[in-house]
Amino acid sequence: MSRVLIVEDEEHLARGLKFNLEAEGIDAEVVGDGESGLQRLLHADSGIDAVILDVMLPGISGFEVVSQLRNAKQYVPVLMLTARGRPEDVLRGFEAGVDDYLPKPFELAILVARLRGLIRRKRWASGVQTSTAQDSGSNSEEPSTFSFDGKSIDFPTLELRLKNETIQLTVMEAELLRHLIRNEGKAVSRKSILEDVWSLREDTDTRAIDNFIVRLRRYIEAVPSKPKHLLTVRGVGYKFIANPK
Ligand code: CA
Repeated sequence: MSRVLIVEDEEHLARGLKFNLEAEGIDAEVVGDGESGLQRLLHADSGIDAVILDVMLPGISGFEVVSQLRNAKQYVPVLMLTARGRPEDVLRGFEAGVDDYLPKPFELAILVARLRGLIRRKRWASGVQTSTAQDSGSNSEEPSTFSFDGKSIDFPTLELRLKNETIQLTVMEAELLRHLIRNEGKAVSRKSILEDVWSLREDTDTRAIDNFIVRLRRYIEAVPSKPKHLLTVRGVGYKFIANPK
């Protein structure tokens, strides 16, 4: 059975979530603040498969919780709950290392679906389903790995394998890369990145995308200030080139 940690200070919301998740066959624990959440999650073997994390918490915020987790190399999937899905909160969450988000108020069925998606990814990552993820042969699936210029990206595990190291991508970093790779050689607009990759409104501050690109360049470019794979297309957005001449 999957086990989820709910970090939420609104007691009746937390109780309702726990009740409904358990009705769906998902075990749930509740803590009411970020410090307690961190304590629980930073335990070597927490047994937690995914986290539902509120942003506005007493003490440290949800952003702080997730960035401390990632700094400690703890990659448990995190679904963030944001008040009204404010784009600036969403982007800040992605930058801190959140994997997915839902605006409050949310539909319970959607929350459960998103949570199951995150837990599945974790299962892949721990190797339980590598064979099916790798060659299930299901025709709607894109290839689960993409290799270019001595690097490879494994989408189910969110791993970027470089010559000497493996980098753990967040879901959002991987989705952005996947979108650019799908459109290889073509300019991709910031608007399309916001809408198609992250489901945000197009009037959202696009600087957040630029921050993501800076980070991805640090991972994949030999000289990040002189990119050969992730090119800026002036006035439009970005373009991915797998094998530059
Ligand atoms: Ca709250």
